[in-house]
Amino acid sequence: MYISPHFTMQEACKSATAVRLGIDNYPPALLLPSLKATAQNILEPARDHFGVPFSPSSFYRCMLLNRAINSSDESQHRKGQAVDFEIPGISNIVLAHWIKDNLDFDQLILEFYQEGDPTSGWVHASWTPTGRRNQVLTIGKTTSLGLPKLSR
Ligand SMILES: [Zn+2]
Repeated sequence: MYISPHFTMQEACKSATAVRLGIDNYPPALLLPSLKATAQNILEPARDHFGVPFSPSSFYRCMLLNRAINSSDESQHRKGQAVDFEIPGISNIVLAHWIKDNLDFDQLILEFYQEGDPTSGWVHASWTPTGRRNQVLTIGKTTSLGLPKLSR
């Protein structure tokens, strides 16, 4: 089932950790609108702009999965509002800057990127129906290359 033109529900709940630990990471139906909105407002514009097929590395996470990877219970991944992704052939810093400059988002985090290694780390971006903060953060031992360490 597609949740947006290029992305499927299977991709939204896919997790190697969930498979390994036997966790059912299929989201409840009430989160479908959030998953669709995140895909439509974050993933689809990036897919259209860069023109490269990609699959998110982590999107929806149920509580058990989220705890298994030591993420906060408050993580927006649990609500289907956040997605982690990379785009083949595109530096993660380029992707993060493009999102910052072109999308209306809640939170954008460039995670564990290291200068000189374009594929290091990943991009976390979230979208909420109201009150979007357009907050930009970097996490990890990174040169931010213009991305502020705290909110802009
Ligand atoms: Zn994330």
